[in-house]
Amino acid sequence: MILYDFACPSGHEFEALIGSMSDDDPACPTCGRTAARRPSKLNIGGLADPGPSRDQMPRTWVQTNRGDRETLRHWHDLAARRDKLEDKHPELAGDRRPVLAHEGVFARRPLRAGDDIATAVREATSAASSTTEHDTHDSERQG
Ligand SMILES: [Zn+2]
Repeated sequence: MILYDFACPSGHEFEALIGSMSDDDPACPTCGRTAARRPSKLNIGGLADPGPSRDQMPRTWVQTNRGDRETLRHWHDLAARRDKLEDKHPELAGDRRPVLAHEGVFARRPLRAGDDIATAVREATSAASSTTEHDTHDSERQG
């Protein structure tokens, strides 16, 4: 059995267990219309999905699709979930010092409050000039 989220054409949202992907979609318990499956918020294993980290969240107007309402709501929801998760699991919080600069040479490695500026600039420019590295290596600058 798999737990899915459903939404009917009238906008009622509910969860239902169905046997397999090929089963018929259930009727809405509120109005009886056939509901459509929505992507589930739950993982199959029952573990909470930590979602994107703070560093992966948009920081600029352009990254939010120029302030698109749906996009903003989506990220706001993810951020709120992330906050709750980090309350429970502080080890997920990562670096939460305020970001002072995140553009130009700091696009890939933001300058944060408390960073030594000369070091940060050197790291940022060396990161920006390495053309082969596309991954985000955040773990290397712990401590
Ligand atoms: Zn309904």
